[in-house]
Formats: sequence, structure tokens, C-alpha cells
Amino acid sequence: MIEKRQFYINGRWVDPIDGIERQVINPSTEEPAGVISLGEQADVNSAVMAAKSALPSWMATPAEKRIARVEKLYEIYKSRAEDLAQAMSLEMGAPIDMARTQQVGAGLSHLKSFIRAAKAFNFEVSLGDHAPNDIILWEAIGVCALITPWNWPMNQITLKIGAAAVAGCTMILKPSEESPLNALIFAEMMDEAGFPPGVFNLVNGDGVGVGTQLSCHKDVDMVSFTGSARAGKLISKNAAETLKKVHLELGGKGANIIFADADEKAVKRGVIHCMNNTGQSCNAPTRMLIERSIYNQAVETAAESAQIISVGAAYQEGRHIGPVVNEVQFNKIQNMIQKGIEEGARLVTGGTGRPDGLFKGYYVRPTIFADVKNSMSIAREEIFGPVLSIIPFESEDHAIEIANDTLYGLTNYIQTQDSEKAKRVARSLRSGMVEMNGQPRGAGAPFGGMKQSGNGREGGKWGIEDFLELKSVSGWVT
Ligand code: NAD
Repeated sequence: MIEKRQFYINGRWVDPIDGIERQVINPSTEEPAGVISLGEQADVNSAVMAAKSALPSWMATPAEKRIARVEKLYEIYKSRAEDLAQAMSLEMGAPIDMARTQQVGAGLSHLKSFIRAAKAFNFEVSLGDHAPNDIILWEAIGVCALITPWNWPMNQITLKIGAAAVAGCTMILKPSEESPLNALIFAEMMDEAGFPPGVFNLVNGDGVGVGTQLSCHKDVDMVSFTGSARAGKLISKNAAETLKKVHLELGGKGANIIFADADEKAVKRGVIHCMNNTGQSCNAPTRMLIERSIYNQAVETAAESAQIISVGAAYQEGRHIGPVVNEVQFNKIQNMIQKGIEEGARLVTGGTGRPDGLFKGYYVRPTIFADVKNSMSIAREEIFGPVLSIIPFESEDHAIEIANDTLYGLTNYIQTQDSEKAKRVARSLRSGMVEMNGQPRGAGAPFGGMKQSGNGREGGKWGIEDFLELKSVSGWVT
């Protein structure tokens, strides 16, 4: 049993002031794997005070020196990659090979992008030749609360910390109580990288407790949050009293529009993408929109593609999907599958219950529904499990209408070999990101959504700007 009860505050590991115990459950076995403490107001106050005290000198530290710390962190991250992979696999159920490559890899790539973007970033910009004595300064926004989810833990943590650190902000990380162990390793790495005391602090806790206390705190200047729309709304309300900036990265219900002229691998690729990380990705293409003329064949291909996805324990090596994160999610997904059946969608593979031969652990059957109407619950709500909804469409306009008919607007996908059509549709989609023909977005591209998928952009120079304020100064003699 891993015991990690302490928090990291002001450059030291400290005991919680009271500290309620919480078990970390291994979703592959349903057995306890570790124990942490949940903090409370006094722990939050102490971390915020440390971050506030550290702010003036960290902000005033030249950008090159801040970047140098992140470069050191990047090297340490590489050396602790296996520890991070093991922790994520244990606590949130990412299959170990996938954890090593995708989960750990995402964090490494973000840190690298921030280093590159920060080196090219101009923190002092002239207004223009018409106003030679005006200067625009990009300055750190201040003390930032970073609240992260469990599904891509290192991805989220590095997206926030890498950017906040080079921007000159000080921070308090509250990782998800479902996946705290990888974040505690990350805190050890921050310590080893030599960030000055108070620049980075970690307090474990749940949303109702530490999450709310950080959102309400008068000395927190910004909350950067990734998680559900439900929590995003609560954080926004709690932050309103102090008018702090709230950056939100929320859920999605991405459409994958497959036109009749798509490449032959498009359907299979869409199924695998949807099921990756056991369907627990905010940007998963969970609504597959298929042009009527290829519909029947595509549904068959989708079912066959899902049937060859194997499900197994996260600690086993190989290519399979793991369990979902916890019992609450398991039950929610089971209910959604049942609802899909009751609302009249056609179940073509999978269904409720565990996959054959798995009796313990939060394992879900890769499930595909066809003949889904966009008004059904399985097309409207984020399921966050390996469940795909297939919807037919009649024309380009019809596909765009269905894709945009959602509360969310994170990532949509287009599959067609007609590049003019692809560009036309990409411009019509109301989402922060569009990926076409299986080509992933490049490192450092801005990640974020529209509508109820949130309001911020993370990654690269856009992610750094999110942690900065603009100061406009006149009379600046150069
Ligand atoms: P969640 O909202 O339940 O929890 C996320 C974090 O917020 C956790 O640390 C939790 O403790 C905290 N939290 C919960 N309630 C809070 C409150 N009232 N005040 C302050 N903090 C609170 O989400 P989750 O189940 O951990 O993660 C899954 C969700 O995250 C999905 O909706 C998914 O789409 C979304 N997500 C979005 C992105 C993105 O970048 N857009 C990326 C990953 C995950």
C-alpha cells in the first residue's frame, strides 16, 4: 500500500493540518492501492500564502531563468517516466504500454513545446511606429490555482504548470483525488528542478473541499480548471465573488463526419480513436456521422473494429483498453448504455455488463450503437466510456447541422478526400479544434473549446498567454 499523506508547500513536504484519509483504488482490481490525505481550508491558506509570498520575486526573475527551470524539469521528467507511467496505470487504469507512450508522452511533448514557445515569446512589445514611446508588457497574472482531472493526468498537469512557470506565475496544484499519485511524483520533480520555495505547491483534496476553497480564495488571481462542465459552472460561480479569471477546459461530444469519399481506413480509425483511453477523453470522437450511401457498410466495419478491441488489466502489457476509472463511472456508463437501448438506438456490438471472463474491475464492453438520433441521450451527453453512437446524414449541410447541434464544441473530425469540401466544413464547425483525415494537430497547437466545452486555450504560446496580463505603458523611453 502506497502511503502519501503529505502536501508540498513552500518548498517542503508537510503534514496536513487535520487531513482526512482517502484511499486510492486500483480500477483493475477494485482493491485499495494507496492512501492520501484530503486537505482543508487551513492547508489551502498555507499554500496560497506561500504562493503569494513567492510571486514578486518569481515574476521579476528574467524569463531565461524561468525557462531554464522548466528545461531542468523536462530532463527530470524523462528520468522519472517509468514512475509516472506506473502510477497512472495503477490509479486511473491506463494500460501500462499506453501509459508509457501516450500518457507520459503527452506531458513530455507539452513541456518541450512550452520551452520552445517561451524562448520565442516577446514579453515586451512595441505598440507600433505611430507611438514609439508606448510599450506593451506581458506580465504574470499572479497566484494560480490549477485544478486537474484524472483522465489524462500528466497531460493536464504539464499543460498548466509548464505555461504558468514560464509566464512567472506561482501556483497551487489540486490534482484529481482519483489520480493523486502521479501528481505527487510530479511535485518531487518540481522540487528537484529547483523552483524557488512557494512557486509551486500541491494540496490534495476533493472538489467540494479544496477545489471550492481555491475557487473562492481572495488571494488566488486565476483558476485554471480542466474537468466536467458541472464543476466548471460551480467554479465560475464561486470565483465570481472575487472576480478572478477562470480558465475552463471542459467536456465534449465530438462529431466525426465521414463522407462517402473518405479513405478506406476512416471508420476503423474513428472507432479506435473513440475507444482509446477506454473512451475517457474530452476530445473523443463519440458521434460518428456517416453519409447515407456508405452507411450500412460503415456500420458493419465499425462493429468489426470494436469486436477486435480487447479489454484487460492496466498492469498487463500489450495493446488493449483498460478499466474505466471508478465504480461511479462504471455505473454511469452502464446506465447510459441501457438508456441507449431504451430510447431506441440499435445496439450492434457490446452492451451492458462486463466483457466475458472479467468478473472484478471496472471493465466495460466496447459498445456501438447505430441508427442513433442526435436527440437521444447517448448523442447529447458525455458518456466517458468506450461507447460510440453512429448517426446517418444525407448531405454536407445536414452533417454540419448535426455536428453543431450540441452544447459542446471541443473537437470535431472530418474524413473526405475532397480538400475543398474539407476546408468548407472545417470553417462551419463550431468547435475549438478540427482534425481532418486522421492527421493529429501539431505540438504546441492551441487546445480548447467553444460553447460549454470552455473558454481557454492551452499549449504552446497560446497557453503561455493565458497565464499573462497585458500592461500598456506610455512615456517609455528606449
Ligand atoms: P470533475 O469535474 O469531476 O473533476 C475535475 C477536477 O475538479 C478534480 O480535481 C475535482 O476534484 C475538481 N472538482 C470537482 N468539483 C469541483 C468544484 N465544485 N470546485 C472545484 N473543483 C472541483 O471531472 P473528472 O471526472 O475528473 O474529469 C472528467 C471530465 O473532464 C470530463 O467531462 C472531461 O471531458 C473533462 N476533460 C476536459 C478536458 C479539456 O481539456 N477540455 C481534458 C480532460 C478532461
